[in-house]
Amino acid sequence: MLTVGVDIGGTSVRAGVTDRDGTVIATAAAPTAGDAAGLDDTVVDLVRDLAAEHPVVAVGLAVAGFVDPDRRRVSFGAHLPWRDDPVAERLAARLELPVVIEHDANAAGLAEHRVGAAVGASVAVLVALGTGIGAALLIDGAVFRGAHGVAPELGHLTVVRGGRPCPCGKRGCLERYCSGTALGRAAEELIVETEDFSALRATWERAQPVTGRDVARAAERGDLLAGRVVDEFADWLGQALALVADVFDPDVVVVGGEVSASSALFLDRARRRYTEEATGGAHRRLAEVRPAVLGGRAGMVGAALDARERAGV
Ligand SMILES: [Zn+2]
Repeated sequence: MLTVGVDIGGTSVRAGVTDRDGTVIATAAAPTAGDAAGLDDTVVDLVRDLAAEHPVVAVGLAVAGFVDPDRRRVSFGAHLPWRDDPVAERLAARLELPVVIEHDANAAGLAEHRVGAAVGASVAVLVALGTGIGAALLIDGAVFRGAHGVAPELGHLTVVRGGRPCPCGKRGCLERYCSGTALGRAAEELIVETEDFSALRATWERAQPVTGRDVARAAERGDLLAGRVVDEFADWLGQALALVADVFDPDVVVVGGEVSASSALFLDRARRRYTEEATGGAHRRLAEVRPAVLGGRAGMVGAALDARERAGV
């Protein structure tokens, strides 16, 4: 018995047939359509193509947006056309298969808990560092979503009053200091403030935004300015981990998302800062901080495992 996980992001839809161990057996992908009917068609076409070749019994969707607590409707996604939309019923009717929806960070957290870095954890937190911060909290293996389905929202905790502006409308949100985007912005700030030589200066002078990947690559090559930016990022991450430890007291924190591919650059420093910043950190047991193991497939795999658990197969 196999299930399909469909990761629906702002630019692409990626579907994978997955077994009970979380192994992806076959994949298919297409661009994200800009209208609701078109996005429905994309999901249906991808799942049908995969189901024609494999014995698929259920479908899970991981969406970059808010999902109603009953997990049948997508209420809002900044880069998705579905609005307060009963997506699960509609797709289930067309596919003639059970369909369940999950927020993409929750799906990734579920995947890491079932088959990844947090197997066996009683309280697990996923901190996914990419464009922003995605976060998931699992208690005794179950996703905790809060009373209204939006917890935990770590990325928009205000950490600097009047700090960097955030697309959410506030200033000083954690993800403005601790994400892939933040790496790029911090490098640009330092380029403007200093005369220091850096390979990133040329990137910036070509009027391109400096990306987190640019910074990570430069730091790996020993660029001093990039190294300063990464160290500062690591300190913010350590502070974020201390917040997580103080609020949730987990046994495992998984650091995932695109930026975690470069975790060798910053994770040790972040762990040190985390131990210093967590309240009474030297006198209590603290969560182990581990890099994610499922990479870019975490959302897809988590959605597929979620569908399997919901369908009871
Ligand atoms: Zn914000």
